[in-house]
Amino acid sequence: MIGTPPAPPDGRTTPDVAGAVITPGHPEYDAARTVWNAAVDRRPSHVVRCADTEDVRRTLAWARGSGLEVTVRGGGHSIPGHSVIDDGVVLDLGDLDGVFVDPVARTARVGGGCLLADVDRATQVHGLMTPAGAISHTGVGGLTLGGGLGWTMRRFGLTVDNLLSVEVVTADGRVLRADESNHPELFWAVRGGGGNFGVVTEFEFALHELGPLHLAANAFRIEDAPTVLRAMRDVMPTAPDELVWSAFFRFLPDWPWAPAEHVGRPVLLAPLAWVGGVEEGRRRVNEFMADLARRGAEPLATGHGPIEYVTLQRLNDELNGHGHRNYHKSAFLRDLDDATIEVLCARGAVIA
Ligand SMILES: Cc1cc2nc3c(=O)[nH]c(=O)nc-3n(C[C@H](O)[C@H](O)[C@H](O)COP(=O)(O)OP(=O)(O)OC[C@H]3O[C@@H](n4cnc5c(N)ncnc54)[C@H](O)[C@@H]3O)c2cc1C
Repeated sequence: MIGTPPAPPDGRTTPDVAGAVITPGHPEYDAARTVWNAAVDRRPSHVVRCADTEDVRRTLAWARGSGLEVTVRGGGHSIPGHSVIDDGVVLDLGDLDGVFVDPVARTARVGGGCLLADVDRATQVHGLMTPAGAISHTGVGGLTLGGGLGWTMRRFGLTVDNLLSVEVVTADGRVLRADESNHPELFWAVRGGGGNFGVVTEFEFALHELGPLHLAANAFRIEDAPTVLRAMRDVMPTAPDELVWSAFFRFLPDWPWAPAEHVGRPVLLAPLAWVGGVEEGRRRVNEFMADLARRGAEPLATGHGPIEYVTLQRLNDELNGHGHRNYHKSAFLRDLDDATIEVLCARGAVIA
């Protein structure tokens, strides 16, 4: 974090804050230190549930003075567990979960500990949204600070493209409002630099109008996966910005429209959605499905129809639930060439 160390130790064993301070032995200690990835099992000395910006400032000052390391916790979805630490302080922002929507200015002020679901709910009441990730129990904090990819990014940009300002508490205890004009370098850094530049207690986002969308929730046989991925490679560079198409190898979920004998077997899930009007979406998505059929790939299971944005955002929440042991690796590819597709499909067929 930026800034210089603040006050010397004041002898207190806990920070003087309005929120709860949870230490080992507290009945909520295990719940308070648990994060999304069950492979992360760390034992902090303190979990401080900050009630407001002042609590954040006080906790930082106390921790620095006490020589304790600090991690910041938003939604707890950091896959390597960057939001929890052994023998240090977890600065838990979960209670900073207010969302204030200005439907006229089309902006929302969002507490630093909000989950995506909090923002989707509050903005969709007004028929508005801001682009975010695809799993609604993810934290706005970590997702925004890392960039933010999601269903609507081709049309509306990444989450950081829609960030207007932030309130940040720096390591030396200053509370700053950063935007394009004020502290512009800090504002640049929080748009993709991760949680390293201070504790963001509030995000301000631009909002866009969005009603229900058309979705085709498709699952393809593994044998058809190369055809689907090649089609995706060919089509997406020139596809309209409203079209979103992603693909991942998973076991076929227990969808109402999934053939029972295939549930639990490896498939390629490749949902197509149209981030625009439902009628146009139905027509355009059907065109892409027809193109796929001409190429020889018919879905094993497909659920077509209009879907509310908040429902779309929650659609895969259970598939990506808390409490599983996760190990992730990622890579950027310049091109989805045939050799890569072959490797992906071979691995996809043997997921366990
Ligand atoms: C199930 C799942 C689905 C995902 N889906 C998507 C997706 O669709 N799109 C996408 O772009 N990403 C996605 N991600 C990645 C996700 O955005 C990152 O893991 C992100 O860091 C999680 O943020 P968090 O606040 O939930 O996590 P945390 O573990 O709480 O925080 C992650 C990092 O950000 C820091 N941090 C969090 N909040 C703040 C804050 N307010 N101020 C300062 N630092 C903070 C933490 O200290 C930590 O270093 C997904 C991850 C998971 C586990």
